[in-house]
Amino acid sequence: MDAEMGRKVAKEKEMREWCVALPKVELHAHLNGSVRNSTLLELAKQLADKGIIVFEDVKDVIMKNGRSLPECFKLFDLFHILTTEHDTVTRIAKEVVEDFAAENVVYLEIRTTPKNNEAKGMTKRSYMDAVIKGLKAVEAVDVVLFDSNSRTNDTLACTPTIEFDGDTMKKRIYVRLLLSIDRRETTSAALDTVNLALELKDQGVIGIDLSGNPVVGEWETYLPALQHAKELGIPITIHCGEVANRKEIQAVLDFCPQRLGHVCCLNDAEWKKLKSLMIPVEICLTSNVMTGGAPSLELHHFADLYNAKHPLSLCTDDCGLFSTSLSNEYYLVAATFGLTKPELFHLAQEAVHFIFADENVKKSLKEVFKHAEKRFDDVV
Ligand SMILES: [Zn+2]
Repeated sequence: MDAEMGRKVAKEKEMREWCVALPKVELHAHLNGSVRNSTLLELAKQLADKGIIVFEDVKDVIMKNGRSLPECFKLFDLFHILTTEHDTVTRIAKEVVEDFAAENVVYLEIRTTPKNNEAKGMTKRSYMDAVIKGLKAVEAVDVVLFDSNSRTNDTLACTPTIEFDGDTMKKRIYVRLLLSIDRRETTSAALDTVNLALELKDQGVIGIDLSGNPVVGEWETYLPALQHAKELGIPITIHCGEVANRKEIQAVLDFCPQRLGHVCCLNDAEWKKLKSLMIPVEICLTSNVMTGGAPSLELHHFADLYNAKHPLSLCTDDCGLFSTSLSNEYYLVAATFGLTKPELFHLAQEAVHFIFADENVKKSLKEVFKHAEKRFDDVV
């Protein structure tokens, strides 16, 4: 390695470490897509031992970084089998929170589709109870799951204080849940999910998401449930424009949810409308490039929205599936679009405005970033 190459490698390493240390807000993370590879491998082995799957069929895909789209779908099938067990759901939820906290995510909204599976004795409610059990089982960091004004003992798990960049303080992560309506569901099943969100609002559930295979289903099917959520005052985020479905994109923009995910395939008139509505966008760079929603990182619509000062937040979508992390998404923005450290810090900080949790949480997060500014003294 020559000297110039050495300097380049050192610079990249320093920037990557800086992105990990940066406090971050994650607003678009699917629970099942965020599972660690090591856990997937272990659980796949167990399934193979029971004769449910053939281990060799999935082993290479699990071990691989940078999977192709068909390989991602293969893993989706595996997730589907895994999440029919309550204990597995609990374990996954616990580990996903630990992993996000480990890379200094200070606020996390996890979304998941509550599932009914009669054969396994699983209802949408028991599935969610298993998820919440996992969040409560986290020991590595403090998890704040409830809104501070609705519970007094809001800190669920305490560990001895840890050394954090010279300060003795406990690492803390605010976690909230969004319930996803799957595009394959009927109107009645979608309504069940909204009612469950209301039922679990004291357990950290604060919003509704619409997701799933973008070429499946009709907007009219979910609209009554989304309308119901709106009437109940439950914040909504919608996967929008993953494919160029003009009629649906128009309907979603007209519905005007609190946030939108992806917004890849918009035409000029739709971009104009989105910008005039100022709906915050959850940007998922790696995911969009890997699934073909964006032609490349360089040509991703992040640049246009960022330059237009449109409200946005960097997110991972499925960090396990797409072999990324929120820190990596920040790094990619710096490496691809040339954002400076102060700009990255500002981007992370601004995401606080778009969270679904209440004002008390926003206030606490603003304090976290204010405190962090002192440590990131090269950015102020
Ligand atoms: Zn998504």
